Amino acid sequence: MLSLPLVADGRLLGCVDLHDRRDRDFGEALDFARGVSALLAGAFHKAVIVEELEQRAADLRTMFDVGEALVTAATLEATLHAVARAAAVALELPVCVVDEYVEEIDSLVTRALYETQPDEDYSGLGVPTRLDEQPGDRAILEGGVVVIEQISDRDLNQATRDSMERQGEKTCLNVPLRVGGEPVGELVIIEVQQERHFTDEERVLARALGEQAAVAIQHAKLYRRQQEQNRRLVALLETSRALAAALDTRALLTRVRDEVATLLSLPSEAVDVCLRDGDGGYVSLAALAAGEEDLGESPADGISSAAAPDEVVRRAFEGLCPARGDGEAGGARVVVPFVLKNVVEGYADIAADHDRPIGDDEVELVQILAGQAAAAIDNARLYHQIELQAIKDGLTGLYNHRYFYERLFQEFARAQRYGVPLSLLMLDIDDFKQFNDEFGHQVGDQVLAEVAAILSSQLRIGVDIAARYGGEEFVVLLPNTPRGGAEVVGGRLKREVELIVAATPESGERVAEAPPRQSEGAALVGERIRHTIEVAPLSAPDGRVTAHVTVSIGLATFPEAAGSPDELVGNADKAMYLAKRLGKNRLEVFSY
Ligand code: GH3
Ligand code: MG
Ligand code: MG
Repeated sequence: MLSLPLVADGRLLGCVDLHDRRDRDFGEALDFARGVSALLAGAFHKAVIVEELEQRAADLRTMFDVGEALVTAATLEATLHAVARAAAVALELPVCVVDEYVEEIDSLVTRALYETQPDEDYSGLGVPTRLDEQPGDRAILEGGVVVIEQISDRDLNQATRDSMERQGEKTCLNVPLRVGGEPVGELVIIEVQQERHFTDEERVLARALGEQAAVAIQHAKLYRRQQEQNRRLVALLETSRALAAALDTRALLTRVRDEVATLLSLPSEAVDVCLRDGDGGYVSLAALAAGEEDLGESPADGISSAAAPDEVVRRAFEGLCPARGDGEAGGARVVVPFVLKNVVEGYADIAADHDRPIGDDEVELVQILAGQAAAAIDNARLYHQIELQAIKDGLTGLYNHRYFYERLFQEFARAQRYGVPLSLLMLDIDDFKQFNDEFGHQVGDQVLAEVAAILSSQLRIGVDIAARYGGEEFVVLLPNTPRGGAEVVGGRLKREVELIVAATPESGERVAEAPPRQSEGAALVGERIRHTIEVAPLSAPDGRVTAHVTVSIGLATFPEAAGSPDELVGNADKAMYLAKRLGKNRLEVFSY
């Protein structure tokens, strides 16, 4: 049994047991199993985080429900209307208005109106009055004391006088509404018949009614804020669930960017997301999107413009927490790092317009998301690592047997569909048992890795597929490559290859012109591989470079020498055995 602890962030979260009925040394599978257990631990860990976040959202929802019981929009209107009515009736005046101060637009917005003789046409509710245009109202709001305005007063502010005349008002009793020293609105009781004076008792009463209105407005404000917070939290919860499941890095980054934008009600162009790449640099999503059209390639490919960290980014990195700065367009800018185990996995770079401040509470929300993003990025990276491990051979770094077959079927189908040739080389090291006997298995292993490296060096990157088929057997799949082989006749191929290999750039004069790779037949590729291995000095036990090995190669090509993927492998194998029988260290081409 192989037992693996699941540890994340220093916490033991569980354990995986693998059982085998037979005796088994898990040696070769150990790295892979470790990777899988790290992935599982990551998944467990994220489940815990999501659970905690759900609890947090639930707490907030409870708070939100309480807020709702306090003052909803409907009850605010009713409360303010009741206050306005009480004020008008108590002071025996025909009109009372309650305005809310809305800081974002620096305006008073009418929330309630009471009239003893209602004017059916009046539609002033919800209409904002900018304080810039009414300096009298601003003075009252900031002064914090009751102010009585009479139309006959010579010192009356001109804007106020115009407004009173327009509305036919003679006397206004203005009560500023304040909570904790902050302005929340204004209560105005109005006489329209003739000017009116107030007793001290009346002023005190007006002030007391104003306090009620102030509290109601303040509660409504809190309610609205909570509602917004709640909306954001629910969105955040959905995101973290989605992030936990995302494994494709680019899709994940796009998702993070969109979520940050949505969370702060900003356009997605206002947010860029960067990711740590393999070289310790950072690649931005914007650069990715601009520089790479082909979504199939790996994210880091072809991106030279890793975002150069500026001063704000550096501060965020050093402090491992959000850093503020000025955006290019003069607006606010915040860089929020995605931190996991003290490593910055990436960051969100947020720049808002100049008239759109970014609040601390907003940054805090992004930070919650950032934690999720960091864990998700780490998870995706780990997943890709394991994905690679799962298709690669540990000793040689070539693809493994399973992946080779997967690709063989794909490539075969493609060759059939487009009517293009597909060649397969099967290689087996000659007398390798003897080599092991002479130098030991460890050296043998090392030589296998070196042969694999030579093999890779002779192939088209990203096109040809080299795999370790078995112990000391390799296969090479050459898509869109004909058999070639006219060169093989009369030993021409061998000579040609030797000429090509001899024509190294350092030798100055080229002995023979190397044929362009595209027109090379598979036989020539195989022969070049065979020759390169034959002449390569390999590592010997004590570091001296003395050992040599040779390979026998069989070649089969679709369509002429195979009707199915299995036949292609089988026939290349037959050709390889023919090469062994004919004396080894040679290439044979299968033909019926
Ligand atoms: P032939 O020329 O007929 O191929 O002779 P051979 O000795 O190479 O015979 P065969 O192809 O059957 O090779 C099997 C030998 O290859 C057995 C083993 O000693 C060696 N071998 C297979 N896998 C490994 C490996 O992973 N490491 C090492 N060091 N040797 C291996
Ligand atoms: Mg063999
Ligand atoms: Mg062999």
